Amino acid sequence: MDTVHTTPRVVVIGGGITGLTTAYRLQRLAQAQSRPLEVLVLEAQDRLGGVISTQQEDALLMEQGPDCFLSAKPWGLQLCTELGLTDRLIGTTTAHRQSFIVRAGRLLPVPQGFYLMAPGSWRGLLATPVFSWRGKARMALDLLIPRRTATTDESLAQFVTRRLGREALERMAQPMVGGIYTADPRYLSMQATMPQFLDMERQYGSVIRAMFARQRQAATAAAGTSGPRYGMFVSFRQGMQTLVQTLTAHLPPASVRLQTPVRRLQRRPDGSGWLVHVDGQPPLEATAVCLSLPAPQAGQLLHDAQPALSAALQGIAYASSAIVNLVYAKDQVAHPLNGMGFVVPAVERRALMACSFSSVKFAARAPEDQVLLRAFVGGALQPEQLAQTDAAIQHAVLHDLQALLGLTGPPRRMSLTRHPEAMPQYHVGHHERVAHITALLRTCPGLHLAGNAYHGVGIPDCIHSAETAAQALLDVLPGDAV
Ligand SMILES: Cc1cc2nc3c(=O)[nH]c(=O)nc-3n(C[C@H](O)[C@H](O)[C@H](O)COP(=O)(O)OP(=O)(O)OC[C@H]3O[C@@H](n4cnc5c(N)ncnc54)[C@H](O)[C@@H]3O)c2cc1C
Repeated sequence: MDTVHTTPRVVVIGGGITGLTTAYRLQRLAQAQSRPLEVLVLEAQDRLGGVISTQQEDALLMEQGPDCFLSAKPWGLQLCTELGLTDRLIGTTTAHRQSFIVRAGRLLPVPQGFYLMAPGSWRGLLATPVFSWRGKARMALDLLIPRRTATTDESLAQFVTRRLGREALERMAQPMVGGIYTADPRYLSMQATMPQFLDMERQYGSVIRAMFARQRQAATAAAGTSGPRYGMFVSFRQGMQTLVQTLTAHLPPASVRLQTPVRRLQRRPDGSGWLVHVDGQPPLEATAVCLSLPAPQAGQLLHDAQPALSAALQGIAYASSAIVNLVYAKDQVAHPLNGMGFVVPAVERRALMACSFSSVKFAARAPEDQVLLRAFVGGALQPEQLAQTDAAIQHAVLHDLQALLGLTGPPRRMSLTRHPEAMPQYHVGHHERVAHITALLRTCPGLHLAGNAYHGVGIPDCIHSAETAAQALLDVLPGDAV
């Protein structure tokens, strides 16, 4: 065992955005309260950031994981403000705000006023070729269908087919909502992912009626203001790595150990803390532990110490995906790229799930004469894609992009990043599953969970979960102010 500690020590396992934020917040809170505390982050890889990774080369800025975060959830922007990053934030460009959706091999604009799955104006719905007339008529029936009275959870597929019809599911909700979670809509929990649409049904008896009312309210509110400072999505001029680097810079260097995969957790024999088992050294003693890992990996570490909690954590499914960054000369692309990107409904039967026009979406991501595209493959609907070699995935992506964007010639550069088992799947009953995990956790003093598996998958959600865990950890740690 390592040296016995008088100063309380928190071991944070996982150095992604969740683990780094947990460690940062713990240090800040302890400093503010003048409490002695040692924080140690153990990360399996040789780099920090987890799925966040930015590659900068030859005037190109390529995001190999997330490329932005939502401004509407406050925790991301609040942390950036605290870290002094406000000047380094950027919004999406304003030139081309529309997005596209593929139908019969063509890119069609997402109908005006649509929000994720439902129309916000009759004009937008009537004018769009994304849906057939039959599909549009079925959507309008939402105005007449009685509201559901049961309060049990249902899947995205059940909700959308019940209210708006199968075409709305296949052509819009699956690629738009399912795409965010790389999920299968037959299993995705409405309560855990789209509660605002359940509220709409409850309050207005119709999703469309609610959408129209909300659009009117938004227009009235917007008339009296100068608009939000940022758009819906925010990133950093130098890419998402900025957040990782800045958080890391705020941690004492000795508080991070790379290439240190944790193998197992064990309660200390006297029950007063935890032993953290890593390769090639005696177990590390911890007063408390925060597991900032994907839930199944957290579960594996608890296999011996907490079998019931371990099984519950491993019950949260994850999906794999890959991102392919591609660079073309502008004159190789026939499509005007007058939008942020496009999504591909699964019924189109293509390898590609979605593609961002990165150099249109954000300024200064590629030289003026080049375009940077970011293609997504895999997810819960196409796990077989990830079983292929990198070359086969890239070939499939090129095939689809050539057909959809009219590309000529090979890309100037192409790189693929895999994200195995990185996106949690909030299946129907997710809230109950998390409540069960929370109840089991109460029997494990000094053990905390944070990350994307529980209360939201986005970066602001992870930051929030990290800050909540840090506060909870500090509340129960021994040690008076010095
Ligand atoms: C492809 C993709 C694109 C996304 N795009 C967006 C987006 O644009 N905007 C947005 O808001 N969100 C996005 N998300 C979601 C968001 O990025 C993630 O939910 C979030 O970054 C997860 O952070 P984390 O720290 O919880 O987990 P991770 O980033 O997975 O980090 C976990 C860390 O734990 C380490 N680890 C694992 N096992 C061990 C062990 N035994 N011992 C020690 N260390 C271990 C891993 O190496 C890793 O570094 C995206 C997610 C994916 C997968």
